[in-house]
Amino acid sequence: MKSRLYKVSIFFITTTLICGCQILQTQKKDKDSDSGLERDPRVQRALPSDPDNLKLTILHTNDHHGRFWKNSEGEYGMAARKTLVDAIKAEVAKKNGCVLLLSGGDINTGVPESDIQDAVPDFKGMNLLGYDAMAVGNHEFDNKLETFFMQEDIADFPFLSANVYSPKTRECIANNNCNDEPKRIVKPYLISEKCAGLKIGLLGLTTNETRSTYQEFDKLDFRNPIDEAKKILPTLKQNTDLIIALTHMGHYSLPEEKDKMGDIRLANETTGIDVIVGGHSQEPLFKPDVQNGTLILQAYEWGKWLGRLDLNYNIRTKTLTMDRYALLPVNLKAVDPATGESSFALQEIPEDQDMLALLKPYQDRGQDELLVTIGSIDQSLDGSRAVVRNQPAPIAELINSAILKKTSADIAIFNGGGIRDSLPAGTLSYRSTLMIHPFGNTLTTVELTESELKAFMQNVVAMVEPNSGSYPHLKGITVKLNEQGLIEEMKIAGVISQSNKKYKVSMSSYMAGETYGTLIPNKHPSYYDTGYTMALSLRDYIEANTPLKAATFETVRSFIVE
Ligand SMILES: [Zn+2]
Repeated sequence: MKSRLYKVSIFFITTTLICGCQILQTQKKDKDSDSGLERDPRVQRALPSDPDNLKLTILHTNDHHGRFWKNSEGEYGMAARKTLVDAIKAEVAKKNGCVLLLSGGDINTGVPESDIQDAVPDFKGMNLLGYDAMAVGNHEFDNKLETFFMQEDIADFPFLSANVYSPKTRECIANNNCNDEPKRIVKPYLISEKCAGLKIGLLGLTTNETRSTYQEFDKLDFRNPIDEAKKILPTLKQNTDLIIALTHMGHYSLPEEKDKMGDIRLANETTGIDVIVGGHSQEPLFKPDVQNGTLILQAYEWGKWLGRLDLNYNIRTKTLTMDRYALLPVNLKAVDPATGESSFALQEIPEDQDMLALLKPYQDRGQDELLVTIGSIDQSLDGSRAVVRNQPAPIAELINSAILKKTSADIAIFNGGGIRDSLPAGTLSYRSTLMIHPFGNTLTTVELTESELKAFMQNVVAMVEPNSGSYPHLKGITVKLNEQGLIEEMKIAGVISQSNKKYKVSMSSYMAGETYGTLIPNKHPSYYDTGYTMALSLRDYIEANTPLKAATFETVRSFIVE
């Protein structure tokens, strides 16, 4: 586990430093001239003194995932973001420009203090920041629709999505009669006239990738986002000067991802979208990806970065030009390789006091609520290293049961090093599950053919070593090995594996980044990160099945040697 965290931090530091350089460069350039980074090669720039030239700055974040508060290192957080956003607004206002602040969605799920308060602090924080609109992300449906509508009520800005349908609309829930045809549950688009002289169309779209996970909740129907966009774009084109698609459907640029229903396909299969402000794939796009004349943006995750796009719109020629683009780090830290000490990559951004005053009570209450009882168990389940790194264990059986419940996978697998505490007898709190899974790893899935599964499992067999953190715990599969340790037979849910079937395997995000022969799960085309933490899945399972009986979680031998 440690080595993985190390790898993650090295990646993170590298990107921080690279981007730090880019931004410093931008600031330097700005002093020399009015130019900036990454000019759009398609179009000429308008002169800043041109009276026909309107200035528009788009600020954006995505995949916030409950990070209203800074982390223990003092990185990101809405209070520092507010200071940064306010400074940019003031700067743009001086030049008579206009700012839109947009979110690519997935405000919900990821931090216990936010999760147990239904992300209310996050939406209130967004109000204070002055967001203008938000794409609806898939994680907005981790709770029931009643919670979704509650969050929409709190928000001072619109939720947008053209392709999420349900028979359970806000109106029918109020009337207690939800038998009608599915309808869009929020507005598909809006035309903003916030920036004087400019009509801006904002079109919301949501990934349809996760349809199966959410269908059972509220009969949600995630329709094809590109088809829905095509229905709306002609109206928007007629009535606006500029169209921004505010999406939560991922930017998939690898050749093996070309069929994925993401922003690149949206840009290439439609006409008229000027800018896509995206989310979901949670990557830092340090410069816009220009596809079919559309600028695609994404600002990684958690509010670590604020995306800033400066545009000019010439009202006479009706042409749009990009002045510059940058991802601005929000109090990210870099580690000095020589001393191991971390410090802010750029100058520290002070936290906004109004935002702190708003959020601090939520942070305190969230921490208190982690101790509230969620259920009980009659006997403790041993999570000590001596047990979970050497043999099948009842605590692992419980964890795997929770994984299968959450992901509907055929097979669950995780490593003994991922268990960091025992489950005590008696009453249990969310904190009890966080003690077992303190790392914030999420549940992921991958769908494997029989031959891929066999090759994967052959590598998993090799992880069965005494006292090893990688000791594998399995559920849903038994593997029969010959004397040489080679797999002779696999049974999934008691049935011998079949060559024409695919099997859904769930594992932690930590395991999904490891290499198993030729397979790295998180590089597989079917890879999906559910965003649910291991601790959250365990909490939900305990809550749904309380009171637990320890005897239920008998250990089953997954590897049979004959
Ligand atoms: Zn998402």
